[in-house]
Amino acid sequence: MEVASTWSPPPPRRLRAILERLRREYGRPAGRPHRAPIDELVLTVLSQNTNDRNRDVAYGRLRETFESWHAVRDAPVEEVEDAIRPGGLAPTKAVRIQEILRALGDDDLGWLENAPLEEARAYLCALPGVGRKTAACVLLFSYGRPDVPVDTHVYRVGTRLGLFRPGAPLEEAHDEMLRLSRGADPHEAHVALIRHGRRICVARTPRCGECPLRRVCPYPRRSG
Ligand code: SF4
Repeated sequence: MEVASTWSPPPPRRLRAILERLRREYGRPAGRPHRAPIDELVLTVLSQNTNDRNRDVAYGRLRETFESWHAVRDAPVEEVEDAIRPGGLAPTKAVRIQEILRALGDDDLGWLENAPLEEARAYLCALPGVGRKTAACVLLFSYGRPDVPVDTHVYRVGTRLGLFRPGAPLEEAHDEMLRLSRGADPHEAHVALIRHGRRICVARTPRCGECPLRRVCPYPRRSG
């Protein structure tokens, strides 16, 4: 495709310039590392194919029903399934949560805070059903490690802005965000691109006419 052949990796200052403009629009997102990596892992499993509200209801019920993650791990799977039912796909998610907790054993994942990033990510990605996005969520939200989760909004907005090679697989987009977010706040990068994707750079018809990034975005020119 012509667009793909003309793409070249942008320098990190491009992401910084985008974030400055988004900061003027939305403010600087709040959020501190919560230092609870297992909570984040489970929350990310629960967030699949549902909205934030249903995810949070399922998570709250899970925490109310069981006194610890060990108790969730050792419970009959049907009990876990019952607790998380409001989040949808309960049978699949219950099995996956227990698989992850069994794989962790007694590891509380506290070592992720200071381990080399590659090592920390590789460990997480070796857990059942855990991919780059989940690993990045755990590292970023638990400990502020500079790994930016590329969800559907970050991927779409980033591709339109020319941050990612058109058609790049998610793995490549994560590597690209890692490179681009050097010198930027990775948490801000993640939250600001999601906000922008929800409010203006929406999936079907992006509202380019009212977008604070329109002067630096190649998408309106490409799409005519
Ligand atoms: S100019 Fe359009 S495509 Fe580019 S970021 Fe803004 S809304 Fe999205």
